[in-house]
Amino acid sequence: MDAIAKPPRTSPRAQIPSVDRVLSADAGRLAVARFGQSAATGAARAQLAKLRATAADGGAPPEIATVAAAALRDLEARDAPSQRRVFNLTGTVLHTNLGRAVLPEEAIAAVIEAMRHPTTLEFNLDGAARGERDDHVRGLARELTGAEDACLVNNNASAVLLVLNTFSRGKETIASRGELIEIGGAFRLPDIMRRAGAKLREVGTTNRTHPRDFEEALGPNSGLILKAHASNYSIQGFTAEAAPSALAAIAKGANIPFVDDLGSGTLIDLARYGMKRERTVQDALKDGADLVTFSGDKLLGGPQCGFIVGRKELVRACAKNHLKRALRLDKLRLAALEATLKLYRDPDSLAARLPTLRYFARTRAEISAQAARLLPRWSAALGEGWRCGARECASQIGSGALPLETLPSAALFAAPSSKRKGRALDELSRKLRALPVPLIGRVHEDALLLDLRCLDDEADFVAALAQLAEA
Ligand SMILES: *Cc1c(COP(=O)(O)O)cnc(C)c1O
Repeated sequence: MDAIAKPPRTSPRAQIPSVDRVLSADAGRLAVARFGQSAATGAARAQLAKLRATAADGGAPPEIATVAAAALRDLEARDAPSQRRVFNLTGTVLHTNLGRAVLPEEAIAAVIEAMRHPTTLEFNLDGAARGERDDHVRGLARELTGAEDACLVNNNASAVLLVLNTFSRGKETIASRGELIEIGGAFRLPDIMRRAGAKLREVGTTNRTHPRDFEEALGPNSGLILKAHASNYSIQGFTAEAAPSALAAIAKGANIPFVDDLGSGTLIDLARYGMKRERTVQDALKDGADLVTFSGDKLLGGPQCGFIVGRKELVRACAKNHLKRALRLDKLRLAALEATLKLYRDPDSLAARLPTLRYFARTRAEISAQAARLLPRWSAALGEGWRCGARECASQIGSGALPLETLPSAALFAAPSSKRKGRALDELSRKLRALPVPLIGRVHEDALLLDLRCLDDEADFVAALAQLAEA
């Protein structure tokens, strides 16, 4: 290492090297090449200023290579992406905080193509008329749901907002007290209604609402009747809910739209994959909904977006609302959505190609076998002080779909043998989060659990365990 030649004066501050000398060390040159002259100079200056501030009499002169390496490390840390890949081992398949649905390869390829090149986003190759961007998925959405028409927006919250603003601005939206939902974060139905300019007309009680409650609320200022899926909760016991078909008939009689906000909105019968049957979009339309709203990145397994499907003139009214311009999809998500929807044309291969469904369809036997296979490496990575094993657990669907339903699954676990269990578990969770690709599990009954339901890249996971062993 090129230690700094002793300068004539003995003050430690005088021994601090120049920026130029730091940048001509190996790490300094690398910093310039990767991050540019000005960023590298700034980082070297910052290191030197730190040295100046802490320089003490009698201290050893700083090594130039050490200073340059510290500057490079700072630049690298600043450059690391903020949004990073993680392993979702939480057991919640559609985890909102981890980005919900993982997209199918077909969608990934379509997005890359659309990113790299100009596209026919709003351009008709067969004529002069300008195309409409939703046309790329409108036909597919109609084909798969049986709806007359479809309109796409940023997410389902946008879909609900646009529908309310289109049909209920300055008018009443009639909704059951039992369905005035709040779904994680900022989606609270009464707040969305207010923002849309709609007046909330609550009917019924928290546990029981009857068709006559809706009938009695009808008046000259009624805008629409809204039914919202009870996402994330369930009302049980002495309950009554007005059937969608009854609400459809009441709305029809009053000549106002009946809107069914399904939230997750699946296009297929989940019973086929061993899950409880969730009302599908097709069911909601058959039950008489004039408009159905649902998300693209929940059970559907596609990109974040919101669907408005249903009667043609009503969907067109939403599409013509000026708010639509502020809520529209970009070319990347339209490309991802088109590719995802196309997979639904072949239901038999869907579970193999759509990651969300593939995760749902995995059996406990399959996941247990994977846990047994990985257990030796997990134990080896943790070492002393831990009792490791594989055990059964229950995964959740997430994002409010089938809120009470769990899927039989299996997990690797680690229980601390020390007395201070809470602290040991916190430290382990932190270590797992500090890995280059963080492992996100969950703590349950004094143990850390890694639910393997969503683990399909086993080689990468094994590499992460090797890094954990070294950490
Ligand atoms: C999830 C959900 C929403 C919000 O959908 P986003 O796609 O997250 O905007 C609205 N309504 C219901 C019933 C939901 O479950």
